[in-house]
Amino acid sequence: MAQLTVLQEPDPRLRLPTVDVEQFDQDIAEHLENMLETMYAHDGVGLAAPQVNLRQRLVVMDVGDGPIKLVNPTITEQSEDRSVTKEGCLSVPEYQARVRRCSDVRVRYYDETGANHERTFSGLAATCIQHEIDHLHGILFIDHLSSFERSLVRKKLKKVAKSG
Ligand SMILES: [Zn+2]
Repeated sequence: MAQLTVLQEPDPRLRLPTVDVEQFDQDIAEHLENMLETMYAHDGVGLAAPQVNLRQRLVVMDVGDGPIKLVNPTITEQSEDRSVTKEGCLSVPEYQARVRRCSDVRVRYYDETGANHERTFSGLAATCIQHEIDHLHGILFIDHLSSFERSLVRKKLKKVAKSG
């Protein structure tokens, strides 16, 4: 296993599109293992492929009840109820903000062996999976904020870049 480099906003590679996995081979299994190792090393609860410069539809997460690997995840149903949760992102260092999302989502995905799964995520897991699927579409959580809040984030990111 190996740790991967996490890209940080405003890296344009975070915005590139991803493609469906069609072959469930050893490469995919290794990418998912490396993504999990990278996520745990940074104390994250979720990580999506574009964050580590991979172009496939891969997500890993662990909100406290064990690791989940999701290949080609798709939301099939979503609740009308919304919840507001404070989010952060390994690609947007030292910044957290409240984001409004669906309280429950049903997600269809494959595991690393190609087996098909469908399950409902609630609470923090629902927030996390929506955040990660956004990444697969090149969307960051800060895109959900008002333009005023986003300008604050940009200033802060510049400062972090200078000091680091
Ligand atoms: Zn993120």
